[in-house]
Amino acid sequence: MTDFSPRHPPSRGLFDRHLPLRQAHAALRAQGVDPFNICFDTILSPTEARLAGRRVIMLGSNNYLGLTFDAEAVEAGVASLRTRGTGTTGSRIANGSFEAHLALERALARFYGRRHAMVFTTGYQANLGVLSSVVGRGDHLLLDRDSHASLYDGARLGHARVVRFRHNDPEHLRRRLARLEGAPGAKLIVVEGLYSMIGDVAPLREIAAVKREMGAYLLVDEAHSMGVLGARGRGLAEAAGVEADVDFVVGTFSKSLGAIGGFCVSDLDGFEVMRVTCRPYMFTASLPPAVAASTVAALGRMEAQPELRGRLMANARRLYHGLKALGFSVGPTPGPIVAVATPDPPSAVALWNQLLAQGVYLNLALPPATPNGQSLLRGSVTALHTEAQIDHVLAVFDAAATALGLLGNGAARLAA
Ligand code: PMP
Repeated sequence: MTDFSPRHPPSRGLFDRHLPLRQAHAALRAQGVDPFNICFDTILSPTEARLAGRRVIMLGSNNYLGLTFDAEAVEAGVASLRTRGTGTTGSRIANGSFEAHLALERALARFYGRRHAMVFTTGYQANLGVLSSVVGRGDHLLLDRDSHASLYDGARLGHARVVRFRHNDPEHLRRRLARLEGAPGAKLIVVEGLYSMIGDVAPLREIAAVKREMGAYLLVDEAHSMGVLGARGRGLAEAAGVEADVDFVVGTFSKSLGAIGGFCVSDLDGFEVMRVTCRPYMFTASLPPAVAASTVAALGRMEAQPELRGRLMANARRLYHGLKALGFSVGPTPGPIVAVATPDPPSAVALWNQLLAQGVYLNLALPPATPNGQSLLRGSVTALHTEAQIDHVLAVFDAAATALGLLGNGAARLAA
């Protein structure tokens, strides 16, 4: 018999250091369903799903234009699956590009009116790749404090010095840059169009003015604002009239375009070198051609139907003003992301459970993933929600929060 008993047993389990998190997660599960391990039985439409046998209104996707079931996007994907297969099985630098990748890059460059476009397998990777490539040792990266994890991780992957400034505070940014005056190296300011947790918008005109004054570069992550803001849906830079000041737009196909993938567009000379410097582009498999094909179709739909944006904003206003009228604390302005503040994590979980039990699914957002340590319920509307669905959501919110004593004196305030 072979003796498999270890001669030097490990002193501790590898996951022991996550014990506090494991305990917190177990406590959460004990309150009801595990909000971080939801599995839908089926997705019925962009606005409805079946979850644990129950029909729920989907208020927890980023499917802003409701394009996940767009007939042309679906057909383009299916046709590509049949003719090009399920995947590329490798990266573009090693295994080559498919025509669909190039078509998607041409479509994006044309849509944004930029000379260069580069597609990544996810938006997360686009941020990792771009932030770690365009600035390096000796350069400075000025990050809004409430930046998405992918921007923080991109900053970590690269070698530029990271300087954080207060959320949506151009004056603080200006002071941070003033301290770097005379320092060698490039300065890249990084902000988001629409912030994903609260749904607030960057003061981009003021930030662009600081960029011009201080001789910095500017990158805007339009992940949540593409297809949502701007006359053509290019995002906040278009809506604010400052596209000429934005050196890099980064975005994703996983929200308004209903697919998966990320991109960066720019007019800067030398941009194409990123294809051989961005590790998150070079060392991972490229997008399946079917995804690229359906994304091109979804982009076409987005351009052809600007009225989708109008419907989205009308729904956003209905939900936002409805919640506000009921006494909930919501973000500073109406938009497709509607965050509702609760006093603490247990109240957030209790409200989330109640809403789900009554057929409304949205996202639970707890610290440390939220700004200012807030416990939030994050809802997002789509262009395809009906007024009746939103009114039903409002009635369910009212009943659930009243039952839990979270309105009136029990209400929490949301800090944006
Ligand atoms: N940037 C922001 C601001 C995001 O919110 C997200 C996704 N939540 C991403 C980038 C990453 O996008 P993707 O889902 O394509 O990886």
